[in-house]
Amino acid sequence: MVFSSMDSFGLEELVFCNDKRTGLKAIIAIHDTTLGPAMGGTRMKVYANEEEALQDAVSLARAMTYKSAAAGLDLGGGKAVIMGDPALSKNEALLRAYGRFVERLGGRYITSVDAGINEYDVDCIRRETLFALGGTAFGGCGGCPSPATAYGVWQGMKACAEAEFGSPELADLTIAVQGLGSVGRVLCEYLKSEGARLIVTDIDINCRKLAEEWQAEWVLPQEIHKVPCDIFAPCALGGAVNEKTLPELVCRIVAGAANNVLSGDNMADELHKKGIIYAPDYIINAGGLIYIAHERTRYLPGEIMEIVGRIRGRLGQILKRAAGEGVTPFLVARQMAEERINAAKGLLSLRATFRRD
Ligand code: NAD
Repeated sequence: MVFSSMDSFGLEELVFCNDKRTGLKAIIAIHDTTLGPAMGGTRMKVYANEEEALQDAVSLARAMTYKSAAAGLDLGGGKAVIMGDPALSKNEALLRAYGRFVERLGGRYITSVDAGINEYDVDCIRRETLFALGGTAFGGCGGCPSPATAYGVWQGMKACAEAEFGSPELADLTIAVQGLGSVGRVLCEYLKSEGARLIVTDIDINCRKLAEEWQAEWVLPQEIHKVPCDIFAPCALGGAVNEKTLPELVCRIVAGAANNVLSGDNMADELHKKGIIYAPDYIINAGGLIYIAHERTRYLPGEIMEIVGRIRGRLGQILKRAAGEGVTPFLVARQMAEERINAAKGLLSLRATFRRD
Protein backbone atom coordinates (compact mmCIF):
# COMPACT_ATOMS: atom_id res chain seq x y z
CA MET A 1 0.00 0.00 0.00
CA VAL A 2 2.80 2.43 0.91
CA PHE A 3 4.89 1.88 -2.21
CA SER A 4 1.86 1.99 -4.51
CA SER A 5 0.88 5.33 -2.99
CA MET A 6 4.48 6.57 -3.45
CA ASP A 7 4.49 5.41 -7.06
CA SER A 8 1.18 6.98 -7.94
CA PHE A 9 2.36 10.36 -6.60
CA GLY A 10 5.96 10.01 -7.82
CA LEU A 11 7.30 10.36 -4.29
CA GLU A 12 11.04 10.05 -3.53
CA GLU A 13 11.07 9.26 0.16
CA LEU A 14 8.83 8.75 3.17
CA VAL A 15 9.99 9.04 6.75
CA PHE A 16 7.89 7.68 9.59
CA CYS A 17 8.75 9.35 12.89
CA ASN A 18 7.82 7.51 16.06
CA ASP A 19 8.92 8.78 19.44
CA LYS A 20 7.45 6.73 22.24
CA ARG A 21 8.53 9.09 25.01
CA THR A 22 6.65 12.13 23.69
CA GLY A 23 3.95 10.26 21.76
CA LEU A 24 5.12 11.81 18.48
CA LYS A 25 3.75 10.11 15.39
CA ALA A 26 4.65 12.00 12.24
CA ILE A 27 5.13 11.36 8.53
CA ILE A 28 7.56 13.39 6.43
CA ALA A 29 6.92 13.09 2.69
CA ILE A 30 9.74 14.19 0.37
CA HIS A 31 8.19 14.39 -3.06
CA ASP A 32 10.90 15.73 -5.36
CA THR A 33 14.32 17.29 -4.77
CA THR A 34 15.34 17.93 -8.37
CA LEU A 35 15.30 21.71 -7.95
CA GLY A 36 16.53 21.78 -4.36
CA PRO A 37 15.71 20.66 -0.83
CA ALA A 38 12.10 19.62 -0.28
CA MET A 39 10.34 22.57 1.32
CA GLY A 40 6.90 22.42 2.93
CA GLY A 41 5.20 23.07 6.24
CA THR A 42 4.23 20.67 8.96
CA ARG A 43 0.51 20.13 9.60
CA MET A 44 -0.77 18.89 12.93
CA LYS A 45 -4.28 17.55 13.14
CA VAL A 46 -6.37 14.60 14.13
CA TYR A 47 -6.60 12.03 11.34
CA ALA A 48 -9.17 9.26 11.21
CA ASN A 49 -6.37 6.74 10.60
CA GLU A 50 -2.77 6.40 9.40
CA GLU A 51 -3.84 6.02 5.78
CA GLU A 52 -5.61 9.37 5.82
CA ALA A 53 -2.51 11.03 7.33
CA LEU A 54 -0.29 9.43 4.69
CA GLN A 55 -2.55 10.55 1.83
CA ASP A 56 -2.59 14.10 3.18
CA ALA A 57 1.21 14.24 3.48
CA VAL A 58 1.79 12.75 0.05
CA SER A 59 -0.70 14.86 -1.90
CA LEU A 60 0.37 18.08 -0.14
CA ALA A 61 4.05 17.25 -0.79
CA ARG A 62 3.41 16.90 -4.52
CA ALA A 63 1.60 20.25 -4.57
CA MET A 64 4.67 21.81 -2.90
CA THR A 65 6.90 20.52 -5.70
CA TYR A 66 4.69 22.24 -8.26
CA LYS A 67 4.41 25.36 -6.10
CA SER A 68 8.18 25.78 -5.73
CA ALA A 69 8.86 24.98 -9.37
CA ALA A 70 6.20 27.33 -10.75
CA ALA A 71 7.34 30.13 -8.43
CA GLY A 72 10.87 29.85 -9.85
CA LEU A 73 12.42 28.84 -6.53
CA ASP A 74 15.44 26.57 -6.10
CA LEU A 75 13.40 24.25 -3.91
CA GLY A 76 11.71 20.90 -4.20
CA GLY A 77 8.51 19.79 -2.54
CA GLY A 78 7.80 18.07 0.73
CA LYS A 79 5.30 18.12 3.55
CA ALA A 80 4.95 16.62 6.99
CA VAL A 81 2.01 15.72 9.15
CA ILE A 82 1.96 15.18 12.89
CA MET A 83 -0.96 13.03 13.98
CA GLY A 84 -2.72 14.51 16.99
CA ASP A 85 -4.82 17.35 18.30
CA PRO A 86 -2.64 20.46 18.55
CA ALA A 87 -4.83 21.79 21.37
CA LEU A 88 -4.21 18.67 23.46
CA SER A 89 -0.94 17.04 22.41
CA LYS A 90 1.31 19.84 21.19
CA ASN A 91 4.11 20.62 23.62
CA GLU A 92 7.81 21.48 23.62
CA ALA A 93 9.04 17.91 24.06
CA LEU A 94 6.97 16.64 21.12
CA LEU A 95 7.99 19.50 18.82
CA ARG A 96 11.66 19.10 19.72
CA ALA A 97 11.50 15.35 19.13
CA TYR A 98 10.03 16.16 15.72
CA GLY A 99 12.81 18.72 15.11
CA ARG A 100 15.40 16.01 15.70
CA PHE A 101 13.85 13.86 12.97
CA VAL A 102 13.97 16.84 10.58
CA GLU A 103 17.62 17.48 11.51
CA ARG A 104 18.55 13.87 10.78
CA LEU A 105 17.51 14.39 7.15
CA GLY A 106 20.46 16.77 6.86
CA GLY A 107 18.62 19.44 4.86
CA ARG A 108 16.83 17.21 2.36
CA TYR A 109 13.62 18.51 3.95
CA ILE A 110 13.01 22.05 5.27
CA THR A 111 9.91 22.55 7.38
CA SER A 112 7.70 25.50 8.26
CA VAL A 113 4.21 26.42 9.50
CA ASP A 114 0.92 24.90 8.37
CA ALA A 115 -2.47 24.25 9.96
CA GLY A 116 -1.92 23.43 13.65
CA ILE A 117 1.72 24.57 13.63
CA ASN A 118 2.45 28.27 14.06
CA GLU A 119 5.58 30.43 14.09
CA TYR A 120 6.11 29.86 17.85
CA ASP A 121 6.10 26.11 17.23
CA VAL A 122 8.68 26.61 14.48
CA ASP A 123 10.86 28.47 17.00
CA CYS A 124 10.63 25.39 19.20
CA ILE A 125 11.43 22.98 16.34
CA ARG A 126 14.42 25.20 15.50
CA ARG A 127 16.02 24.39 18.81
CA GLU A 128 16.82 21.00 17.33
CA THR A 129 17.31 21.76 13.65
CA LEU A 130 18.61 24.40 11.28
CA PHE A 131 16.14 23.23 8.68
CA ALA A 132 13.04 25.14 9.74
CA LEU A 133 11.88 28.50 8.39
CA GLY A 134 8.98 30.79 9.26
CA GLY A 135 9.56 31.23 13.00
CA THR A 136 8.75 34.48 14.78
CA ALA A 137 10.06 37.67 13.18
CA PHE A 138 13.49 38.74 14.31
CA GLY A 139 15.39 41.86 13.25
CA GLY A 140 12.85 42.65 10.54
CA CYS A 141 13.05 39.29 8.82
CA GLY A 142 11.01 36.12 8.99
CA GLY A 143 7.70 35.90 10.76
CA CYS A 144 4.33 34.50 9.86
CA PRO A 145 3.97 33.99 6.09
CA SER A 146 0.16 34.38 6.03
CA PRO A 147 0.12 38.11 5.16
CA ALA A 148 2.37 37.36 2.17
CA THR A 149 0.03 34.56 1.11
CA ALA A 150 -2.94 36.93 1.36
CA TYR A 151 -1.11 39.58 -0.67
CA GLY A 152 -0.32 37.04 -3.37
CA VAL A 153 -3.94 35.86 -3.50
CA TRP A 154 -5.13 39.46 -3.82
CA GLN A 155 -2.72 40.05 -6.71
CA GLY A 156 -3.72 36.74 -8.30
CA MET A 157 -7.39 37.71 -8.13
CA LYS A 158 -6.50 40.80 -10.15
CA ALA A 159 -4.99 38.61 -12.87
CA CYS A 160 -8.20 36.55 -12.93
CA ALA A 161 -10.40 39.66 -13.04
CA GLU A 162 -8.36 41.01 -15.94
CA ALA A 163 -8.79 37.75 -17.86
CA GLU A 164 -12.52 37.50 -17.17
CA PHE A 165 -13.70 41.12 -17.03
CA GLY A 166 -10.95 42.94 -18.93
CA SER A 167 -9.85 44.95 -15.88
CA PRO A 168 -7.78 44.08 -12.79
CA GLU A 169 -9.96 46.34 -10.64
CA LEU A 170 -11.80 44.44 -7.91
CA ALA A 171 -13.84 47.46 -6.76
CA ASP A 172 -17.56 46.67 -6.98
CA LEU A 173 -16.94 42.98 -7.64
CA THR A 174 -18.69 40.59 -5.24
CA ILE A 175 -16.24 38.24 -3.56
CA ALA A 176 -17.29 35.33 -1.33
CA VAL A 177 -14.58 34.36 1.15
CA GLN A 178 -14.74 30.97 2.89
CA GLY A 179 -12.60 30.98 6.04
CA LEU A 180 -11.43 34.04 7.99
CA GLY A 181 -8.26 32.59 9.49
CA SER A 182 -4.81 34.11 9.27
CA VAL A 183 -4.90 34.38 5.46
CA GLY A 184 -8.63 34.98 4.89
CA ARG A 185 -8.88 37.96 7.19
CA VAL A 186 -5.84 39.78 5.73
CA LEU A 187 -7.18 39.08 2.25
CA CYS A 188 -10.52 40.63 3.23
CA GLU A 189 -8.70 43.75 4.44
CA TYR A 190 -7.03 44.12 1.04
CA LEU A 191 -10.32 43.51 -0.78
CA LYS A 192 -12.18 45.93 1.45
CA SER A 193 -9.52 48.62 0.90
CA GLU A 194 -10.17 48.28 -2.82
CA GLY A 195 -13.93 48.59 -2.49
CA ALA A 196 -14.97 45.00 -3.22
CA ARG A 197 -18.34 43.78 -1.88
CA LEU A 198 -17.66 40.98 0.59
CA ILE A 199 -19.71 37.95 1.54
CA VAL A 200 -17.93 35.94 4.23
CA THR A 201 -18.19 32.96 6.53
CA ASP A 202 -16.28 30.85 9.03
CA ILE A 203 -17.19 27.93 11.25
CA ASP A 204 -15.86 30.06 14.12
CA ILE A 205 -18.83 32.24 15.01
CA ASN A 206 -16.48 34.77 16.67
CA CYS A 207 -15.47 35.82 13.17
CA ARG A 208 -18.90 37.31 12.69
CA LYS A 209 -17.78 40.53 14.33
CA LEU A 210 -15.16 40.91 11.59
CA ALA A 211 -17.97 40.80 9.03
CA GLU A 212 -19.67 43.64 10.90
CA GLU A 213 -16.42 45.65 10.93
CA TRP A 214 -16.05 45.25 7.18
CA GLN A 215 -19.78 45.78 6.54
CA ALA A 216 -19.67 42.41 4.83
CA GLU A 217 -22.61 40.04 4.44
CA TRP A 218 -22.34 36.97 6.69
CA VAL A 219 -23.72 33.62 5.51
CA LEU A 220 -23.71 30.17 7.04
CA PRO A 221 -20.61 28.06 6.25
CA GLN A 222 -22.66 25.57 4.19
CA GLU A 223 -24.09 28.41 2.06
CA ILE A 224 -20.94 30.29 1.02
CA HIS A 225 -20.20 28.37 -2.20
CA LYS A 226 -23.80 28.81 -3.37
CA VAL A 227 -23.95 32.61 -3.19
CA PRO A 228 -24.02 34.42 -6.54
CA CYS A 229 -20.68 36.24 -6.79
CA ASP A 230 -17.88 37.18 -9.15
CA ILE A 231 -15.14 35.40 -7.22
CA PHE A 232 -15.43 32.47 -4.83
CA ALA A 233 -12.35 32.43 -2.57
CA PRO A 234 -11.82 29.19 -0.61
CA CYS A 235 -9.52 30.10 2.29
CA ALA A 236 -10.38 27.30 4.73
CA LEU A 237 -9.41 23.69 4.16
CA GLY A 238 -9.02 21.66 0.95
CA GLY A 239 -11.74 20.12 -1.22
CA ALA A 240 -14.00 23.19 -1.41
CA VAL A 241 -14.76 22.33 -5.04
CA ASN A 242 -16.07 18.78 -5.09
CA GLU A 243 -18.78 16.64 -6.73
CA LYS A 244 -21.39 18.08 -4.39
CA THR A 245 -20.46 21.78 -4.41
CA LEU A 246 -19.57 22.05 -8.11
CA PRO A 247 -23.16 22.09 -9.46
CA GLU A 248 -24.07 24.71 -6.83
CA LEU A 249 -21.34 27.22 -7.70
CA VAL A 250 -22.68 30.52 -9.07
CA CYS A 251 -19.42 32.40 -9.65
CA ARG A 252 -17.19 33.41 -12.58
CA ILE A 253 -13.85 32.75 -10.88
CA VAL A 254 -12.54 30.39 -8.16
CA ALA A 255 -9.43 31.94 -6.59
CA GLY A 256 -8.44 31.45 -2.97
CA ALA A 257 -5.67 30.57 -0.55
CA ALA A 258 -6.59 27.00 0.37
CA ASN A 259 -4.32 24.12 -0.63
CA ASN A 260 -5.89 21.34 -2.70
CA VAL A 261 -9.04 23.38 -3.47
CA LEU A 262 -10.15 20.71 -5.94
CA SER A 263 -11.26 17.36 -4.49
CA GLY A 264 -9.74 15.73 -7.59
CA ASP A 265 -7.94 16.77 -10.78
CA ASN A 266 -11.13 16.14 -12.82
CA MET A 267 -12.75 19.11 -11.05
CA ALA A 268 -10.53 21.43 -13.13
CA ASP A 269 -12.18 20.14 -16.32
CA GLU A 270 -15.64 20.41 -14.77
CA LEU A 271 -15.03 24.05 -13.81
CA HIS A 272 -13.77 24.74 -17.34
CA LYS A 273 -16.95 23.21 -18.80
CA LYS A 274 -19.02 25.52 -16.60
CA GLY A 275 -17.03 28.51 -17.91
CA ILE A 276 -15.54 29.24 -14.48
CA ILE A 277 -11.91 30.39 -14.35
CA TYR A 278 -9.89 28.45 -11.80
CA ALA A 279 -6.69 29.96 -10.40
CA PRO A 280 -4.51 26.90 -9.63
CA ASP A 281 -4.01 26.85 -5.86
CA TYR A 282 -0.26 26.36 -5.87
CA ILE A 283 0.18 29.35 -8.18
CA ILE A 284 -2.05 31.84 -6.37
CA ASN A 285 -1.21 30.81 -2.79
CA ALA A 286 2.59 30.68 -3.25
CA GLY A 287 3.16 34.03 -1.48
CA GLY A 288 3.91 32.48 1.91
CA LEU A 289 6.37 30.01 0.41
CA ILE A 290 8.12 32.77 -1.55
CA TYR A 291 8.31 34.88 1.61
CA ILE A 292 9.77 32.06 3.69
CA ALA A 293 12.19 30.97 0.97
CA HIS A 294 13.75 34.44 1.07
CA GLU A 295 14.01 34.51 4.88
CA ARG A 296 17.77 33.94 5.00
CA THR A 297 18.61 36.09 1.98
CA ARG A 298 19.73 39.70 1.65
CA TYR A 299 16.25 40.89 0.61
CA LEU A 300 14.28 43.29 2.80
CA PRO A 301 10.64 42.43 3.64
CA GLY A 302 9.34 45.09 1.19
CA GLU A 303 11.47 43.65 -1.60
CA ILE A 304 10.22 40.15 -0.84
CA MET A 305 6.62 41.38 -1.11
CA GLU A 306 7.49 42.74 -4.55
CA ILE A 307 8.64 39.27 -5.53
CA VAL A 308 5.39 37.85 -4.09
CA GLY A 309 3.46 40.35 -6.23
CA ARG A 310 4.85 38.67 -9.35
CA ILE A 311 2.17 36.03 -8.82
CA ARG A 312 -0.13 38.37 -10.71
CA GLY A 313 1.99 38.34 -13.87
CA ARG A 314 2.65 34.61 -13.61
CA LEU A 315 -1.01 33.75 -13.24
CA GLY A 316 -1.90 36.17 -16.03
CA GLN A 317 0.48 34.29 -18.36
CA ILE A 318 -1.02 30.95 -17.36
CA LEU A 319 -4.57 32.16 -17.98
CA LYS A 320 -3.57 33.62 -21.36
CA ARG A 321 -1.81 30.43 -22.44
CA ALA A 322 -4.76 28.31 -21.28
CA ALA A 323 -7.25 30.48 -23.18
CA GLY A 324 -5.04 30.41 -26.29
CA GLU A 325 -4.68 26.62 -26.22
CA GLY A 326 -8.28 25.98 -25.13
CA VAL A 327 -7.12 24.00 -22.07
CA THR A 328 -7.50 24.51 -18.33
CA PRO A 329 -5.20 26.81 -16.33
CA PHE A 330 -4.70 23.78 -14.07
CA LEU A 331 -3.11 21.87 -16.95
CA VAL A 332 -0.93 24.78 -18.05
CA ALA A 333 0.31 25.39 -14.50
CA ARG A 334 1.27 21.75 -14.13
CA GLN A 335 2.99 21.72 -17.53
CA MET A 336 4.99 24.84 -16.63
CA ALA A 337 6.13 23.33 -13.34
CA GLU A 338 7.01 20.01 -14.94
CA GLU A 339 8.86 21.71 -17.81
CA ARG A 340 11.11 23.42 -15.25
CA ILE A 341 11.70 20.24 -13.24
CA ASN A 342 12.42 18.18 -16.36
CA ALA A 343 14.84 20.79 -17.68
CA ALA A 344 16.69 20.67 -14.35
CA LYS A 345 16.81 16.86 -14.53
CA GLY A 346 18.70 17.27 -17.81
CA LEU A 347 21.17 19.57 -16.07
CA LEU A 348 21.66 17.08 -13.25
CA SER A 349 22.53 14.30 -15.64
CA LEU A 350 25.13 16.55 -17.31
CA ARG A 351 26.63 17.20 -13.91
CA ALA A 352 26.73 13.48 -13.17
CA THR A 353 28.50 12.81 -16.49
CA PHE A 354 31.06 15.50 -15.74
CA ARG A 355 31.71 14.00 -12.30
CA ARG A 356 32.28 10.52 -13.76
CA ASP A 357 34.90 11.96 -16.15
P1 NAD B 1 -6.24 29.10 9.50
O1 NAD B 1 -6.32 27.81 10.21
O2 NAD B 1 -5.65 30.29 10.18
O3 NAD B 1 -7.69 29.54 9.00
C1 NAD B 1 -8.63 28.68 8.44
C2 NAD B 1 -10.00 29.22 8.82
O4 NAD B 1 -10.99 28.47 8.14
C3 NAD B 1 -10.31 29.11 10.31
O5 NAD B 1 -10.75 30.36 10.80
C4 NAD B 1 -11.39 28.04 10.38
O6 NAD B 1 -12.30 28.26 11.44
C5 NAD B 1 -12.05 28.21 9.03
N1 NAD B 1 -12.79 27.05 8.56
C6 NAD B 1 -12.45 25.73 8.64
N2 NAD B 1 -13.38 24.98 8.03
C7 NAD B 1 -14.30 25.84 7.53
C8 NAD B 1 -15.49 25.67 6.78
N3 NAD B 1 -15.93 24.45 6.43
N4 NAD B 1 -16.19 26.76 6.41
C9 NAD B 1 -15.75 28.00 6.76
N5 NAD B 1 -14.64 28.22 7.47
C10 NAD B 1 -13.92 27.16 7.85
O7 NAD B 1 -5.48 28.78 8.14
P2 NAD B 1 -4.76 29.81 7.18
O8 NAD B 1 -3.32 29.89 7.53
O9 NAD B 1 -5.56 31.06 7.07
O10 NAD B 1 -4.82 29.01 5.79
C11 NAD B 1 -6.02 28.89 5.08
C12 NAD B 1 -5.82 27.95 3.91
O11 NAD B 1 -4.79 28.44 3.07
C13 NAD B 1 -5.40 26.53 4.30
O12 NAD B 1 -5.94 25.62 3.38
C14 NAD B 1 -3.89 26.56 4.14
O13 NAD B 1 -3.36 25.25 3.90
C15 NAD B 1 -3.76 27.46 2.93
N6 NAD B 1 -2.49 28.13 2.82
C16 NAD B 1 -2.07 28.91 3.86
C17 NAD B 1 -0.83 29.57 3.74
C18 NAD B 1 -0.35 30.46 4.83
O14 NAD B 1 0.61 31.22 4.60
N7 NAD B 1 -0.96 30.46 6.01
C19 NAD B 1 -0.06 29.41 2.58
C20 NAD B 1 -0.55 28.61 1.54
C21 NAD B 1 -1.76 27.98 1.68
